[in-house]
Amino acid sequence: MTNDAHHGDRHDRHGHHGRHHTVDSSESHEHGHSHADEDMLSVEEAYERIAASFSRLDPVEVPLLESLGQVLASDVYSPLDLPPLTNSAMDGYAVRGEDIQGAGADSPRTLEVIGLVAAGSVSDDIVRPGTSIRIMTGAPIPDGADTVVPFEETDEVQRRRSGAPLDQVNILSGLPRGSNVRPAGEDVRSGEHVLTAGTLIRPSEIGVMASLGLGTVKVARRPVVAILATGDELVANGLPLERGKIFDSNSFSVAASVVASGGVPKILGIARDNLDDLHRKLSEAEGSDMIITSAGVSKGDYDIVKDVLTQRGEMNFWSVRMRPAKPLAFGHIKQEGRGPVPLMGLPGNPVSAMVAFEMFARPAIAIMLGKQPLPRPSVEGVLTGPIYNTDGRRVYARVEVTRDNGTYYANPTGPQGSNILTSMSRANGLAICPEDLRSKAAGETVRIIMLDWNEEVDL
Ligand code: AMP
Ligand code: MG
Repeated sequence: MTNDAHHGDRHDRHGHHGRHHTVDSSESHEHGHSHADEDMLSVEEAYERIAASFSRLDPVEVPLLESLGQVLASDVYSPLDLPPLTNSAMDGYAVRGEDIQGAGADSPRTLEVIGLVAAGSVSDDIVRPGTSIRIMTGAPIPDGADTVVPFEETDEVQRRRSGAPLDQVNILSGLPRGSNVRPAGEDVRSGEHVLTAGTLIRPSEIGVMASLGLGTVKVARRPVVAILATGDELVANGLPLERGKIFDSNSFSVAASVVASGGVPKILGIARDNLDDLHRKLSEAEGSDMIITSAGVSKGDYDIVKDVLTQRGEMNFWSVRMRPAKPLAFGHIKQEGRGPVPLMGLPGNPVSAMVAFEMFARPAIAIMLGKQPLPRPSVEGVLTGPIYNTDGRRVYARVEVTRDNGTYYANPTGPQGSNILTSMSRANGLAICPEDLRSKAAGETVRIIMLDWNEEVDL
């Protein structure tokens, strides 16, 4: 490929060699088309066309805990009051408010202690004038009482120390009536609308539903995403690597990305670059909600993958104005006895596959889950090494984002060839050089898409 020569040229021209301070914009193996002379789609145009093909999947009922990260398919109404009974907010004494008015450290009120009630039990005793019941946090307030005086505002501790009888207690504070009492239904009323369809289920929603006693929840089903690697050079994980071959990493990075996005991956393995194998493997994708292939969709590629996809459905082969991940296939594959299934053909280079997944497949999965396909959080940061843009595409440069004195820094993670997967692993963000700029220099401010927000950023 001429790309290698290119690569070296650009390095020399700009004289940047430092591994952590250079973003080389060459993307090896992109089959030669280095200028925006062809019909390229913007990232947004490609995204819009893809997003229009997806919608929320049908609801299913799942055990409560499994619903984490999914989206409620129906409103949730409370079958009960929460808390179900009026109860104590403190460990202390349940009293009649009127009995303790005016009490103080110097003017204690002595009450008879007629019983004890712990959380989980209900007292049959009635608090009559001049009496009290020892009560624990969460225990239902006994009949007759309306106020709880915490232990600290009684002489209980001194009594224990001095061996004084515990069938009496001195109240040392004239708390207002109703103090330290949590009324039934304070949080939620029976029949109340608690959660709305479309809500993302987080640990707090799981907790709320558990507090209502719900064991299952209706959510938009998780999409099953069939994943197919293509290429004669690929060796499956676990097998010996023959000369001239490489291990299939895309199946794994894509499957992991599917899981991280809330989908269910179905790895189909490797299809060889021949018609029979591709047809057979594609048939195994039947019944999935989406198919993701990798490789074989670039311009100038040996066209078997494109041929097979075109034969089996309606496919578009796009060039997207981005680097990495210019070539992208998107369309629908016909299935026996079912509706067509969307197919996204990612570029083969491992970084390109991941970046294209990030831009196009992750939002598609979000839409199927019923989520808003929100972009990742992004920050503005200062570049510590340049990003070059040679051909009018939007460059997504792999950077490690750090923070110092409240400023974010985007540190390029080394060679940016789209085959250099370790530089993706070192990165937690993608710094953008816009289409219309030739470069972004060290010291300039860039927008950074945060792929993850780890402790190095947040220190
Ligand atoms: P292609 O689009 O088929 O020309 O592939 C582009 C580059 O990506 C080639 O160097 C392939 O060897 C590489 N590649 C394709 N598929 C995979 C895969 N599943 N895992 C790792 N590298 C791959
Ligand atoms: Mg190939």
